[in-house]
Order: sequence, then structure tokens, then C-alpha cells
Amino acid sequence: MTNQNGRFGIHGGQYIPETLMNAVIELEVAYQHFKNEPTFQKELQELFHDYANRPSRLYFAKKLTEKLGGAKIYLKREDLNHTGAHKINNVLGQALLAKKMGKTRLIAETGAGQHGVATATAAALLDMECVVYMGQEDTIRQALNVYKMRLLGAQVIPVTSGTATLKDAVSEAMREWTSRIADTHYCLGSVMGPHPFPTIVRDFQAVISQEIKEQILAKEGRLPDIVMACVGGGSNAIGAFYHFIDHPEVRLIGCEAAGRGIDTLDTAATIATGKLGIFHGMKSYFCQDEYGQIAPVYSISAGLDYPGIGPEHADLHDQKRAEYVAITDEEAVNAFELLSKTEGIIPAIESAHALAHAIKIAPTLTKEQIIVVNLSGRGDKDCAAIARYRGENIHD
Ligand SMILES: *Cc1c(COP(=O)(O)O)cnc(C)c1O
Repeated sequence: MTNQNGRFGIHGGQYIPETLMNAVIELEVAYQHFKNEPTFQKELQELFHDYANRPSRLYFAKKLTEKLGGAKIYLKREDLNHTGAHKINNVLGQALLAKKMGKTRLIAETGAGQHGVATATAAALLDMECVVYMGQEDTIRQALNVYKMRLLGAQVIPVTSGTATLKDAVSEAMREWTSRIADTHYCLGSVMGPHPFPTIVRDFQAVISQEIKEQILAKEGRLPDIVMACVGGGSNAIGAFYHFIDHPEVRLIGCEAAGRGIDTLDTAATIATGKLGIFHGMKSYFCQDEYGQIAPVYSISAGLDYPGIGPEHADLHDQKRAEYVAITDEEAVNAFELLSKTEGIIPAIESAHALAHAIKIAPTLTKEQIIVVNLSGRGDKDCAAIARYRGENIHD
């Protein structure tokens, strides 16, 4: 879908300092070489299969479907992947690519810590050094993930600039990459940043929609009516959408985090509240204040509180090929509890945003219609926070 300059419509591009140009050019050349190389693909498929537990299952949520009394709901079980989310797909791909490029060191940014843990996992497996930049605020909120990264052999560097959260960690990782390109690959965690990252990350995540397509054809003999996924930067969503983009009869719905509501300042819903801008090397939509500065964002879900959205989503929105809706904390928490009780599956609070929208619209559809919800991750990590949200204090 990208054109030559890494554009998706008017979005994307490479808005980066000159000092980073060589690094992204080297990355693009290497990616173009390896992406269709049989050995690379074979090694990646082996890692996906034997290490990450792919293919992930497509599960018919019969009880939830009956309870809602409308469309059939299928769950794409990315929560069953090694490390508990879709992030491992991208990280294994990038780590293997970096290794082929002769890099010995991975750096990464992380917000909630999930991408940091996935990167540290791949680094341990492939014998690479690993440094993770994490907002100081987040290192306190996500102490367990900091411990996991260190356990896996990574160094975690707290970032104190700005709001000391995810956006500052991304900025710091980009700065650090500039100063050490020769042996280091920046393993970016979502479909964002300068070209070629949005394309590379999307290609590694596209395995999700490739499998959904095969699995739903085997189970139902036809494509789904709707595919939905939560959207932070947008990697699990674009992965779930990609192989359906050229099937206009399949509706694609991205679910953003409304936080306490899109009419409040406590939101992370970029499409609903953001404006066109340039940040982190790309042109796209961003949450901004009245002066065009990046606005602080909020969501109960640490994995969705990024103030931007990947450029391919921005373009799918412009083209009206995909729809984007905003789901509040309260709606997501209700969905988190409902799936746990009806199906015995505790979803990540991020994924619960997509599920919440399915719960809303399934009753308005016929029993013949099919919704696939991408269950991007598992919810063990969220239990303490959701208990707290309900006024119960348990230890992490
Ligand atoms: C990180 C994360 C997300 C958000 O990232 P995307 O790039 O938008 O997919 C969603 N779900 C889970 C479980 C995550 O860990």
C-alpha cells in the first residue's frame, strides 16, 4: 500500500534529522532484500511456529454470542502467543532482520512495558544486547515489567524528560539510535515512526489477518462481515485488517481509547479528537493542544495511551475504508468482566476496547453475520488495575 517515499496518502514519510537518514535507508535496503528471501522467511516462520505458538486460534465465542443474541463473534487469540500478546510477531521479525544486518544490539521504547518485555525476550533468544527506554513515571506504574526485562537480560533506562511517559521514551530511543547506528537496531513497537517502520511492522503483524482469512474460510466458508481491533499506535489492528483491505465487503473497525470521554481532556482517542501534525518522524493525526503541542493523553489502558496513530490508519480513515470509534474506560472494563465470566478468557484491557464495541453492535446485527475481534493480548497484567478501578485494593 505504500508508495515509494513511504507515504500512505498524505501521511507517513520521513520527518527525521539528517543524522538518522543513513540508518533508515540501510534498514529499508536490508528489509527489501530479506523480506522475500527464502532463508529469512523460513527462519521467521519457524520462530513464529515453534517459539511464539503460531498459528493462534480463531475461537467461536458461542456463549458470548448467545448472550448478545445477534452476530456470531469469533475471537482471534493473539493472547495465546508467547509473552501474551501480538507484540512478539513484530519483535521476532525485527530482531531476526537486525541480526541478518549484522547488528548486535537492540534498543526499544516501551510504555506499559509489554513491547519492552517482548524485545528483551527476542534479544535473549537471539543473543543480542538490549536496552529499553521507559518513561520514569511508567517504570513506577509497571514495576513488574521492569523486573521481567531485567530478568531477561535487558537494561532499562528511565526517561525523565517531558511527561516521563511513552512519547518521551520514543523520542529518547530515536535520539539514542542517532548516536549509535553501527551496531544498533531500533526495534520500534508499533506501526508508527518514519518510513520504513510502519510498513515493516505491518508486514510482520499481517500474519494475523492471513490466518484469520484461512481459519474463517475453513470454519464458515466465507469472509467475516466485520473485523475489529483496538488501536494504540495501530499494529494489532493493521495486522488484523491487512489482508481484508482489498475486500470492501469486510468492514474494518478500529477502537480507540476514549478514556473518561472524548469530550474531556482525559482521552487518547486520536481520530476522534486529534489533528493533522508531524511528530516522531511521521505525518499523521495527533492529539494536540491549542498551540499544536502534543497533548497529554489518558486511558485506563497503558497500551493505548499514545497521542498519535500510525499513518496507514490515518489514510484508511481519510479514504473511509476503515471506521474508528472511541470506547470509554467504563465500557472497556465492563467488557473485560463480561468476557471473563462468559467465556473464561481474561482479555487485556486494550483488547477489551475492541470487545466492548462488538458487544455494542452484535445485538443490532443478524445471527448470520460474523464479527471477528482481535484479542490482542491476555489480561493477567491488568487484574490489579481493574480491581483498583472497582475500588478493591490488591497487590500486583
Ligand atoms: C501494546 C498493545 C496494544 C496497542 O498497540 P497497537 O500497536 O495499537 O497494537 C494493544 N493490545 C495489547 C495487548 C498491547 O500489548
